This record gives sequence, C-alpha cells and structure tokens, in this order.
Amino acid sequence: ATLFASIEMAPRDPILGITEAYNADKNPNKSNLGVGVYYDDNGKVPLLECVRKAEALLMEKPAARSYLPIDGLAAYDKAVQELVFGADSKVIQEKRAVTAQALGGTGGLKLGADFLKRFSPNSQVWISDPSWENHRALFESAGFVVNNYPYYDAATKGVNFEGMIGSLKTIPAGSIVVLHACCHNPTGADLTDAQWKEVIQVVTERGLIPFLDMAYQGFGDGIAEDGKVVRQFAEAGGPVFISNSFSKSFSLYGERVGALSIVAVTADEAARVLSQLKRVIRTNYSNPPTHGGQVVATVLSTPELRKLWEDELAGMRVRIREMREAFVNKLKEKAPDHNFDFVTKQRGMFSYSGLTKPQVDKLRDEYAIYAVDTGRICVAALNTRNIDYVIDAIAKVIK
Ligand code: PLP
Repeated sequence: ATLFASIEMAPRDPILGITEAYNADKNPNKSNLGVGVYYDDNGKVPLLECVRKAEALLMEKPAARSYLPIDGLAAYDKAVQELVFGADSKVIQEKRAVTAQALGGTGGLKLGADFLKRFSPNSQVWISDPSWENHRALFESAGFVVNNYPYYDAATKGVNFEGMIGSLKTIPAGSIVVLHACCHNPTGADLTDAQWKEVIQVVTERGLIPFLDMAYQGFGDGIAEDGKVVRQFAEAGGPVFISNSFSKSFSLYGERVGALSIVAVTADEAARVLSQLKRVIRTNYSNPPTHGGQVVATVLSTPELRKLWEDELAGMRVRIREMREAFVNKLKEKAPDHNFDFVTKQRGMFSYSGLTKPQVDKLRDEYAIYAVDTGRICVAALNTRNIDYVIDAIAKVIK
C-alpha cells in the first residue's frame, strides 16, 4: 500500500461547514450568525480608515522586504507591550516582559504551547468548558493532555464561578490554565472584578501557570478596561503567558498579526526566556511576515492614527452593544414570555443565546438563519437591516 492509501478523511470544521451551507443557500433573507468575524452595519468586514492611512504612509516610502528579526519588528513588539501591559507598566520598566510577534492570536498560543512543552513537559492544560473550539486541538497538537474546568452555567446564563474556582483549587501545581482575558468565546460571559481577584490569588498561591488569551481587546468595555486582567496578573509576579490578536481589533484577519508575551520574575530570567522563545520560532517558521506588523506598529505609534483607531474600535464596540440592546428589546415585544436580558450583560462578539439545537435547526431550515449548534450567535453579524427578520424568526422558533 502507498503512504496515503489508509489515510482517512479528517472531520470537517463545524464552523466553516456552516458558512459553506450558508453560501449555497438561495434564500434572499439568509443571515450567517455562525461566523467569528466582525461585520459592519452593511454586513461587510470593514477596512479600517486607520489601516488605510497607515498603508498609504508606508507606500510613500516603499522599503525592501528583508527578513524581520526572529521575534519580529522591534517597534511592533514595543507597541504590543505598551498596549497589553499599559505604557507605564512596571514589568516593562523592569524588563521582565518579553514579546514576540506571532501569526495572529493562534500563532501566539502555539508558540506559548511549544515553549511550555519544552520547559514544563509534564504539565497538563486546563481550558474553560466550553472554550474557543481550537484551544483543545492546539494544545493537544503541542503534546499536552487537555482538561476542562467548569465555566458556563446554562441555568443562570452566567459563569459557574463556584465550579471554576473549586477546580482551580484542586488541580496540580504547575498546571497550565488557559483563561479568556475578556469577551469569552463562545459564551460572552465574563468574570466580575471580584471574581478575577480570587482567580489571580488562587492561581498565584497554588503555582499554576496562567495563559491569558486576549483576542478581543477593546470589544468589551474599552482598551484599558479589557486589558486590566493582564495587568493584574503581571503585577502578581509571573510567570504569565499572554497571547493577543489584532485580527478583530484592527480587522486584519488575513494579515495574521498577533503576539506572545511572557512575564518572567526577573529581567535575567526574561532574557533567557526570550532566547529560548526565539529557538521555538526559528525551528517553526523562522521569522514573521512584515506587512501586518508594520501597519499595526505605525497606527499605534502615530498619535493621529492611534486616535483614529481608538475611535473606530469604539465604533465597533458600540455597534455590538446597540445590537445586543435591540435584540433584547425587540424580543421583549415579540416573545414577552421569554427573558433575554442576559444578552446585554454578555461582552464581545458572541452570545450563548440559549437557543437549543432543534431551534437552531429550525432557524436554518425554515428561515435561512445560520447559528452554531450550541446556540452561539455572533452579535456582530446582526445589523439594522437583518435584525427584524432574525427576531421574528427567533420569536417563532421559541414559541
Ligand atoms: N482566541 C480566541 C478566544 C479566539 O476567539 C480567536 C479567534 O477567533 C483566536 C484566539 C485566534 O485569533 P487569530 O485569528 O488572530 O489567530
């Protein structure tokens, strides 16, 4: 037999499968709420004005495309640190934080996972139940056993904090705990400030290794507000791993711009950590691409463009908030027996809507509205033109 003769077909990606079915649907009223990207009110992925202007600036001085350093563009790494830790951060001043440009947030997670497998090979990984669908596969592919800690409580449509903290109190020291820094995907349910405080205390006291995934900074309550948890973890001493992404906040999905930052306990440790992180990168893809990193670094370090970005990001955040409110208010009229108030408390692009699998099936088959089987909908796929149709349909399927 040849090498490939016995290879089986891999399972289809469930979320990409939704988009394929949506694309093939001929219903003119069709809506794809299964996606994981931000759409504007016209139902399009936006090209931010700050990105367009930064690209125009870069085009004025066309530069040769030599290799970037292994850890990426220095100006980018510096800008990322100031964004995630705050410009006045002590961990930056004390040179305890290292940052490497990565291929999106996924790339940041994979670098961290590969680094951890080298230096903490016997640790196991703990992710929230449920979590972003790629977390488990990504850490497993890096060689880890992946477990769940309790997170979502379907009865309260909020966080099962007792379950979560109870689990963190019992898992072995040295375990790697993946936490969504803000805007939990898929549920939209975040911890309160007081709950974060407790989590940070337990993680620190018990010697767990926190790995913060921040894919939606600026989509919750604001840039600094959403980054607060990262800063609190950093202040707690380290080690801390942080992957962040600009896919959503700059609408630069295809450019693959993100980073991995690691907070060490001393500057000396940090220098050794960075040297080893570079080895992980070198043996993986050698060094990152130039364009996206240059665009983000230009925007973040040019005051006028930075202001424009903050305004445009606020625009996306506010539009999502408005869609959450419209969703709840319109359902109050059409389905007064049901309470959807929790949807306005959720943060980020997603909502665990509480719709059941049979209801999701009915939405698709009878109304050409596509959602994830778990009931996850992307609030950023709602707009002023499709919301009435969507609400009418939801009101009918939950009757
Ligand atoms: N982490 C979470 C929680 C996400 O939702 C996503 C994207 O959907 C990512 C990481 C990956 O981001 P990127 O597209 O930048 O790789």
